[in-house]
Amino acid sequence: MEPCGKSAGNSDSPFDCLLFDLDDTLYSSKSGLNVVCKRNIEEFLVKKCGFSPEKASCLRVDLFRAYGSTLAGLRALGFDIDADEYHSFVHGSLPYEALKPDVRLRNVLRSITQRKLVFTNSDRNHATRVLERLGLGDCFDDIICFETLNLNISKSTRPDEFPVVLKPSIDAMKIAIEVTGEDPRRTLFFDDNDRNITAGKTMGLRTVLVGKAVKSKEADYALENMVNLAQVIPEIWMNGEQKGEDGGLKRTISEIESAVPTPAVGA
Ligand SMILES: [Mg+2]
Repeated sequence: MEPCGKSAGNSDSPFDCLLFDLDDTLYSSKSGLNVVCKRNIEEFLVKKCGFSPEKASCLRVDLFRAYGSTLAGLRALGFDIDADEYHSFVHGSLPYEALKPDVRLRNVLRSITQRKLVFTNSDRNHATRVLERLGLGDCFDDIICFETLNLNISKSTRPDEFPVVLKPSIDAMKIAIEVTGEDPRRTLFFDDNDRNITAGKTMGLRTVLVGKAVKSKEADYALENMVNLAQVIPEIWMNGEQKGEDGGLKRTISEIESAVPTPAVGA
């Protein structure tokens, strides 16, 4: 994946690296994808695992709470579920066409010179499709996803041999920080999930709770909408060149947002 910004640290900004969750963070939960995804998971529980439709709904919620995902829970309980088959079942029929190019967010992301990575529990195929639909495919240096967090899963001889690693586990956070190669105290982590924010804080990351107006105890910032990033955390852009004589930001928020040309829709 070609990064769109230079991957150089920005010594006067408190952040060298930005880690972004994908679903319900880089696009709104109102897109409808999550509703269909939940329905697909319940269908998987019925068709592939033999649960009744009545049981499937409760089980999906219980497994998510206890294990971080339905797949993680099923494998921990001994169901020999192939991760690729599971992901293609639950993501294959998602209404990706509901996602439209987000030109404003693209401009904001492209104006950030620090390293930017996506950090999602989803599989790489889903992450790539979502980013392409949003027109953000070239805005990140790398994608940390299910496959990154679970390198050993294809080698397992029984389903519970290698527990599935996902946010909010500390192991998942450690892998992500290792992949970035950056100081977690200078890494800004965006996520819409409270538990993920708490795990990130435990590992020393600076945290942004997305989609909420009020920050949780473990969040350093609350950001209702990603496109307001420059207003809420302007210090991301702070460097020697951009400071005015009074030490404040020389570039205005609108200058930051329009720092790169607007791409053609669908680019
Ligand atoms: Mg999310």
